[in-house]
This record gives sequence, structure tokens and C-alpha cells, in this order.
Amino acid sequence: MNYIIIDLEWNNAYNYAKKTGMNEIIEIGAVKLNDSLIIEETFKQLVKPQFSKKISSHCKKLTHITIDELKNGIPFVEAMKDFRRWCGDDFVLLSWSTSDLYALADNFKKLWSIDEITFIKKYADVQKYCQSYIESENTNQISLSNCAEKFGITIEEELHRALADCVLTAKCFKHVYDKDNFKQYIHNCDKDFFCKLLFKSYYISSPVDNGFDLYGLSFECPLCTQQLKVKKDFEFLNNTFCSSGYCKSCKKHFRIAVRAKQNYNEIVISKKIYPLKRKKTRKSNVNIKN
Ligand SMILES: [Zn+2]
Repeated sequence: MNYIIIDLEWNNAYNYAKKTGMNEIIEIGAVKLNDSLIIEETFKQLVKPQFSKKISSHCKKLTHITIDELKNGIPFVEAMKDFRRWCGDDFVLLSWSTSDLYALADNFKKLWSIDEITFIKKYADVQKYCQSYIESENTNQISLSNCAEKFGITIEEELHRALADCVLTAKCFKHVYDKDNFKQYIHNCDKDFFCKLLFKSYYISSPVDNGFDLYGLSFECPLCTQQLKVKKDFEFLNNTFCSSGYCKSCKKHFRIAVRAKQNYNEIVISKKIYPLKRKKTRKSNVNIKN
């Protein structure tokens, strides 16, 4: 079984005719590692964009890829057929963070109408694995270059080109590779895996929806923890259900704000209860014209 490290460069493109955006893949780089984690073969392919004819300034700055250069590329579908052939059958796909895998799945869906990339059977996130070897209080995802620096690996090539990033990812991976420990990071890529990958979390906007019931929620007084009497007419504003409640014991009104976020397999509900500020009474020292 081989490990294949993939790295993609993408252009954050907007299509005005379709009124939608996507991260369109413009370069694919990959390296195939043997059992000793030595690079056996490399893959490099420019992809001719079909979604947008412009390269965003961010992408240009990062990758230095020009639209002229991309004219030598091949369409995404052709590039992926070549890549699939190059991969062979028995491999674990690796990438630095899941964002490349997400972009890959999204490009398959939008440019090829395919929801499940069936030739990818196993996947692992090398960033997550490498980060487990770095002691840090910072839980933010570490960049590839920072990780290399922590591991004392010299960066030889300019990064943010697909193949150079793969080579450096391979070096970081090799630096901390432990076959048994790494097993737990490998996911089976079934239909559920890709559904989860492509799922976009959203805020629920309807009071009763798919297992969520706004009217079934209870709200505690933040001062005495007794149940508030809630006004049922919630308003939906800025992804938030808003209403007010009254505490009989404290004789106080409260503002209630509820957000329900639909994740792939759970709904996360957050409730906020604030004391309701009284409306300012009109000041008595108003000048009254005689
Ligand atoms: Zn109370």
C-alpha cells in the first residue's frame, strides 16, 4: 500500500453568469511514497479553468500562476482521469489539512456532477497528525512552513506551488511517522464520509425543523434560575430567534436570543438571556416653549 500526498492550488473564482463562486482547482501536485516514505513518483498537472477566466489577485500573489500558463493546462475531468490512473488501486490519500480534499470533492461535484470520489478509498489529514507531535497551547491549525520549521526541516523550494508543497508535506510526515500511531488517522472514504465533507452547516430559520423545536425550549432566569415566562412570538433576526421572558420571582424582564446551528449530524443550540434595559424615560428638564 502506498501513501499518496496530494496538494492543490485553487483559484477563488466567481462566475457572474451563474452568480456563484467556487474554489476552482488550477494545479494538481502529488507524490507517491514507498514503504520507507521515499518519493517514488511525482505527478504535476495544470488545469485549464472552465468556471472562471480570471485568476484572483490573491491566488496570483500566492501561486504566481498566470492565466497564460493555464492555457497549457487540461480540463479538470481529463486531469482527474490521469491522476486516478497514476494513483493505482491500493493507496491512502494524504493532504495537509482537509481543505484540499474539500476543494477536490467540491470540484468533482460542480464540474463533473459526482458526489462521491469512488477511487479514493482511504484518507488521512497529515496536518492533524503532525500537529499531534507539536506541543503548543495554540489550537489553531499550523501552517506547513511553520510545522517544517518546528521539525527543523529546511524549506528548499518556494512554497504554494502544488508539487513543492507535497515534497515538504512528505518531509514533515516522515519526520514523525509511526505506522501504528498513524493508523487511527486513516478514514474510510465511504458515501457518508463525502456527504459529511461537503455538508455546510447552517442556522435553522424555522421554529420547528428537522428535530428542532423552538417552543419546546425552556429558559432560566439568570438571577434566580427559575423558569421564565416566554412570549411566544419570536422574531428571526440575524440568524437568531429573539423574544423576551419574564421572571415572576425577580419581577424582571429579560431578552432571549436563540441560535440553532444544523451541523452534519447534530443541532447545536445556544441560548442567551440578558436583562432587558428599560426604555429611557423622557428627561424632565425638556425646554418647553411658552
Ligand atoms: Zn428570577
